[in-house]
Amino acid sequence: MERLQYLIQQDPTILDRMAQVEAQTQAYIASERHQPHGRTNNVITIPVVVHIVYRTAAENISDAQVQSQIEVLNEDFRRLNADAVNTPSLFQSVAADAEIQFCLATRDPLGNPTNGITRTQTTKTSFSVYADDVKFSSQGGKDAWPTDQYLNIWVCNLGGGILGYAQFPNGGPAATDGVVIDYRYFGRGGSAQAPYNKGRTATHEVGHWLNLRHIWGDAYCGDDYVSDTPVQEGPNYGCPTFPHPSCGNTSDMFMNYMDYTDDACMNLFTQGQKTRMRAVLAPNGFRAGLLNSLGCSPPGGGCSGTQTLTAASGTFSDGSGSGNYQNNSDCRWLIQPPNATSITLTFQSFNLLSGDSVIVYDGSTTTAPRLGAFSGTTIPPSVTSSGGVMLVRFVSNASGTADGFVASYTSTLNLPCYGTQTVSGASGTITDGSGPNNYQDNADCKWIITAPPGSAGIRMEFTQFRTEAGYDFVTLYDGNAVNSNYMIRRFSGTTLPPIVTSATPQALVYFTTDHSITDAGWTLNYTAISQPYCQGTTILTAPSGTITDGSGNSDYTNRANCRWLIQPPGATWIELTFSSFNTESNYDFVRVYDGATTSAPLLGSYSGTTLPPVLRSSGGSLLIVFTSDSSITRAGWSASYTSNGTTSLPTEAIPSEVRLYPVPCFDYLTIEVPISAPGEVLDATGKLVWQGMIPSGGYQLPVQTWPSGLYLLRIGGHSAARFVKE
Ligand SMILES: [Zn+2]
Repeated sequence: MERLQYLIQQDPTILDRMAQVEAQTQAYIASERHQPHGRTNNVITIPVVVHIVYRTAAENISDAQVQSQIEVLNEDFRRLNADAVNTPSLFQSVAADAEIQFCLATRDPLGNPTNGITRTQTTKTSFSVYADDVKFSSQGGKDAWPTDQYLNIWVCNLGGGILGYAQFPNGGPAATDGVVIDYRYFGRGGSAQAPYNKGRTATHEVGHWLNLRHIWGDAYCGDDYVSDTPVQEGPNYGCPTFPHPSCGNTSDMFMNYMDYTDDACMNLFTQGQKTRMRAVLAPNGFRAGLLNSLGCSPPGGGCSGTQTLTAASGTFSDGSGSGNYQNNSDCRWLIQPPNATSITLTFQSFNLLSGDSVIVYDGSTTTAPRLGAFSGTTIPPSVTSSGGVMLVRFVSNASGTADGFVASYTSTLNLPCYGTQTVSGASGTITDGSGPNNYQDNADCKWIITAPPGSAGIRMEFTQFRTEAGYDFVTLYDGNAVNSNYMIRRFSGTTLPPIVTSATPQALVYFTTDHSITDAGWTLNYTAISQPYCQGTTILTAPSGTITDGSGNSDYTNRANCRWLIQPPGATWIELTFSSFNTESNYDFVRVYDGATTSAPLLGSYSGTTLPPVLRSSGGSLLIVFTSDSSITRAGWSASYTSNGTTSLPTEAIPSEVRLYPVPCFDYLTIEVPISAPGEVLDATGKLVWQGMIPSGGYQLPVQTWPSGLYLLRIGGHSAARFVKE
């Protein structure tokens, strides 16, 4: 069950799809209610292919070992097991012959003879439950045979000490449907290792594959959706002694194949479990395709029914292998690979008598337009569908047969976005790339935005945003790499995100989608920011005013570090009132000091979304310091202050707002003033070290040759600010 929970975590729509199977199962159970213990007199045979994927000789188990496993399945699912006598009398009346049996395939998907065993040599020392890699030739395993026609059982070296695992009906992609068993626990006797040497690992996993849950319902006293199994507390291990009560029952049914006990101590499925298993094999059940499988009909038996082909490319034939096809054949191949936009069919061999033909349709049914109808011995031309679905039909009449045909198809796929694009410039627009359509599943693509040299950052504003909430994400990073330390924000869902600004002249946009459910996607406008904000110290000398983090209606940037020193001339108190507040809780802080420096007493330190209280200084200086860390930003904050100070400075000549950065400075101190003004700098001893005109806008004061220490800047002979040179 652990694997199912992992898959659900990857793709929650599995729950919906399994719920559809459960609804059909419950309807079937209701319809069977009047013959709860009745025999169906309809034994269902399931064709099996066993894929042995081996690296060592020991992993390459023998045909006889495989045969012994098929025998165990046939005994256990038909209640022909010798240890059936060990079922306690308490449970004898519910023990069931499931009337399900298994055969090793005699016909492969191309119609050729087979012993139902494939052998694939691999370089992998072990396979992973989570990667499911044993099911893919491209990953060192072996591709499944059509999973609606065969029960695929892979036998390999499984990592993690796991005996085996199964995919529930509709519990994952068709390509991974089946059962995987570790080679040490497959078959009876021979090379199998105790206490899992009686083939019951496969009995248990095939039970899951036929929709059985664990006997304890995977929860404390949980529900396994079967009424004739007692509620039990949890799994049992080893070989308990009967009775073994829990959850108020007389005894756990620890000898059920769906418990975790040793192979030698298991011996039954119940009537209720039988009904659940047979529900998925009913004509409207998820595994109904097996009813029409020709997997256990030796070649030469003709073809019938419809096979659905969902791989991007593949090969199929009339099913007769090296022999002639049968009279009165009527078989179909529905080709519909996911994301396909067109399909091209090419014949490798073709030999049909007149009166027998292959008809190709541009759609999913025989009412779709025909792409061609072919007979005779000339290899037909390739045909291409106008969309992502093609139907191929083969019909033969009652007289005369020939070799038949082999055909292969390829498809053009509308693949999800992938890779990295670079964009540069002062502004531009990027989108998920799907235009008016929905984006694709499994998207994984990045855009690196580079602003012109000298830019302070990049402002990013979404004008459209729709993704599958919680699964499909657009993540914004500072810099040009995916690095969680530099993540700005991650967005998902249908709410238009706030405007976000990077703290660096490069930003990375990363779009990822999971493997199901898509939406319209998104559009992002970006603009380079020429002027930095929230840098250095801003000195405020007006008796009252307002302050914000500087980001306007955007989020503030990562790694912000700026200060506001409020020093109205003549003030003996300053009162600060926040009007909005939203910072990353516990990471991005506004700190307020009762004085001009950070060594003054701290009036308060604030983060999160709670509005700080009104703060009041005990003297004429109040220092506000705002810092943000390197990830996650928020809308920011705003505040206003009042004081009992006065402005004695002439309004014409004197700037009311001055900004200094960086603080501390190293080579240059940038001084910004709104109006050109005379300036001077004194060192800590009061000695004049610089004097000059500061033009409006920004001025870079060279300080690299100055000794480290505290300096005092005066502008217009009145307002003053301290700064540190390092
Ligand atoms: Zn299990």
